[in-house]
Amino acid sequence: MTNEQIWQAVLGELEIGISRANFITWFKNTFIYSIEEEEIIVSVPNDFAKRWLEQKYYKAIKSSLEKITEKKIKEVIYKINLEKKENKEEEKNTEKNNSKGNEKVEIKIENEKQMSNLSGSGLNSKYSFASFVIGKANELACAACQAVIKNPGNSYNPLFLYGGVGLGKTHLLQAVGSEFIKMNKRVLYTTSEQFTNNYIDSIKSGKAKEFKNRYRNVDLLLVDDVQFMGGKDGTQEEFFHTFNQLQQGDKQIILSSDRPPKAIPAIEKRLMSRFESGMVADIGRPDIETKIAILEKKAKERNYILEEEILKYIADSIQNNIRELEGALNKIIAYHEFHNISPSLKTVKNILNDLTNNNQIKPIIPKDILEVVCQFYNISNKDLLGEKRKKELVLPRQVAIFLMREELNTSYPTIGEELGGRDHTTAMHSYKKINKEKEENEKLNQEISSIKQLLYGSL
Ligand code: ADP
Ligand code: MG
Repeated sequence: MTNEQIWQAVLGELEIGISRANFITWFKNTFIYSIEEEEIIVSVPNDFAKRWLEQKYYKAIKSSLEKITEKKIKEVIYKINLEKKENKEEEKNTEKNNSKGNEKVEIKIENEKQMSNLSGSGLNSKYSFASFVIGKANELACAACQAVIKNPGNSYNPLFLYGGVGLGKTHLLQAVGSEFIKMNKRVLYTTSEQFTNNYIDSIKSGKAKEFKNRYRNVDLLLVDDVQFMGGKDGTQEEFFHTFNQLQQGDKQIILSSDRPPKAIPAIEKRLMSRFESGMVADIGRPDIETKIAILEKKAKERNYILEEEILKYIADSIQNNIRELEGALNKIIAYHEFHNISPSLKTVKNILNDLTNNNQIKPIIPKDILEVVCQFYNISNKDLLGEKRKKELVLPRQVAIFLMREELNTSYPTIGEELGGRDHTTAMHSYKKINKEKEENEKLNQEISSIKQLLYGSL
């Protein structure tokens, strides 16, 4: 028996006693790295899975391994993200019986690398389940997402996720999208603003049919931040029909919002009742354990080790959301790398003090965006605002415009002014251009995420 066959056999046994959502969550991307005399090393995708398997499934896995290998095993050791010794790149599909019945369910054990076919879908491979930490506050939302992946269009349609800013809504939507792509399904991720803009454009340019084709010929439609549809009657009307057509065809819809359907202002009643007709799951603020797990994971992703005490201190200090948590961590890592010193509780306290003090008096303003864009593209503020039409300047200008609109919802005339007195139509044109290009151009998409990180990280 190869290691892989052994592990598949173990998974087959375990699967019977665990809910499907849990099974996928804890055992996806796990494999046996090595089997020595009395010791087996299992690779797991993240720290949370590691802890979970150690704490909840240690005995079950060990005894199953002993049974299958017919060996006495002293210890099963879990390690994070080991490289497979052979067949590294290969993807493996294994079929096995589902616990609930005779239906065959495919379990894909994927490699994170194979994300090349995301372009055009609006998805970013950064937002995966592997990089998502599950805790009490997002457990339900996450389980609902897993159920949707298992049974698209049927179990929960629509799935409506809501929760405050920076708590992982976009991350989850995108992660489900990527899973669908892996199953060769057609996915479209959009924000309600993009949907609105596309809709308006399509009417203006007489391309209503193309618009309908784009949004209605998918297996999964992800619409982020639907609260912005409030008050936009034409858009709501169009979305209502899009929604109905998809739902009637058993195509999956997932929506996110910063509040529950009922609390969205100026939303049509029929649309609201559609939003509520499937599953509504909320995402709350993470508890301290989840915050620590997130910090640990994000630090590890960057090969950075922070002591328990420091992790706990950061998690304790950042109350609001995970985006801020990431921001704090970025800042801490940047500071210590820059000064080439190891982090201590004292330095971390100082950095966080600065951060929390600044946070209270300083919301992000358009100038902050100009600053980070200049920093990112390594150009001067004067050049950014100036008239030169070199390619190296035009793109940063457009990105700055895009971010002002997207992140701060700044009006086009104000954006024009902020960018050295440009016309509002230039601002509008640039926004649309980047918005579109971002979907097709993964590099640009990544650049924008990095700039956003700088923006929120440097608060
Ligand atoms: P929202 O859409 O709810 O405003 P996002 O999905 O953009 O929030 O999340 C903000 C940031 O926090 C993102 O960088 C995301 O990857 C990260 N994040 C949120 N929740 C988690 C989580 N549970 N585990 C890991 N990272 C998370
Ligand atoms: Mg979001």
